[in-house]
Amino acid sequence: MGAVDSSRTIAELKELRALTGDDNGAQRVAFTPIWAKAREWLRTKLSQIPAETHLDAAGNLWATLRGKSERALLIGGHIDSVPNGGWLDGCLNTLAGVEILRRVRAECGGDPPVTVRVVDWADEEGARFGKSLFGSSACSGNLEMDEARALRDKAGVSLPDALKDHGIEFERVKESHRELANAAAYIELHIEQGPVLLDLDLPLGVVLGTFGVERHAITFRGQAAHSGSTPMNRRRDAFLAAAKMSPEIYRIAERSGGGVCTIGSCTTKPGIVTSVVEECRITLDQRHLDAAALARMFDEAKTASEQFAKEGNVGVEWERLWDIAPMPFDETLLRFCEEAIVESCGVAHRLPSGPLHDAAEVARAGVPTVMMFVQSLHGISHNKIEDTKEEHLELAVRAFDRLATKAIEWIARQ
Ligand SMILES: [Zn+2]
Repeated sequence: MGAVDSSRTIAELKELRALTGDDNGAQRVAFTPIWAKAREWLRTKLSQIPAETHLDAAGNLWATLRGKSERALLIGGHIDSVPNGGWLDGCLNTLAGVEILRRVRAECGGDPPVTVRVVDWADEEGARFGKSLFGSSACSGNLEMDEARALRDKAGVSLPDALKDHGIEFERVKESHRELANAAAYIELHIEQGPVLLDLDLPLGVVLGTFGVERHAITFRGQAAHSGSTPMNRRRDAFLAAAKMSPEIYRIAERSGGGVCTIGSCTTKPGIVTSVVEECRITLDQRHLDAAALARMFDEAKTASEQFAKEGNVGVEWERLWDIAPMPFDETLLRFCEEAIVESCGVAHRLPSGPLHDAAEVARAGVPTVMMFVQSLHGISHNKIEDTKEEHLELAVRAFDRLATKAIEWIARQ
């Protein structure tokens, strides 16, 4: 096996940062001029390999090395960023893929055993229109067209109009699904964006899948009453019932074996200092990799809310805001990913992904999928302080290339 030049990936990440970032961080928001500039830069790199490139119907950029078999290994990433973003989120994945294409091209010439493709997904972050995974969900077929058609940015520009400026026709974006016709496997490298690998002092992790999410608003309804004249035992305090949910969700998460729960907002009515709270609305976000465990977490929270409402003589109502099923990754590719990491640095840790990624959409479309995580310093991203040690980045590119080799051999055997 030839070797990737992992130091070139670092150099290219810095080149991209200099080209499309400023003092506040990366500014490659999808469907903006700076994003288009980053894409132009990327296309130049790809044409030098050389790899065939084209934009699909959803604006995803594909680079293809045709092989003996049409069956393809897909390597994904996203060059778009949030405003004031970090230097690694998304573009590390894409540029590691570019380096693997170079390595495969150098090793096999124009004739690799299977087709190898890099896809740079359009608008993973959803920073401008508030809807993430645009390109990959159009490609997987899961994009909600009516919802997406109505999206507008802060300036009032609609998503279909913004797409038109970049040569994309909104009503046809799902035609990008044809790109998956020969997809045999999908792999994606990503920074962890959390503290787990850092706390374990491990550079790389095997991602088991992406969490399922249950997102609800819970409204408790009691009675407004004067804060001076109402004895404590006569109150129907909506806030008291809502507040009891806070320690409860920590207990629910603790029992769940790996899940997380968050009460992210709380609003009260009438919301004045001299009144008992009549109405208290909280939002609850619950995530787990296992569907049954997620369902249990949801049931437990619901039962607890009903109990707290009864104790306080208030009402409670639940409203589903959003949900998505967990997306476990492919067993064979998980094994390859683990082997690639062990061969590269000795120890692999298996962990779920809290954030959603394009990989979840590809997996949802039925393509065997896996992701590899590299440690994040400070456990933070979507911020200019996002960082990873360069030695870990290089290790990640090399381990990811090993994973690509294993996947290519697997596809060739099928
Ligand atoms: Zn990302």
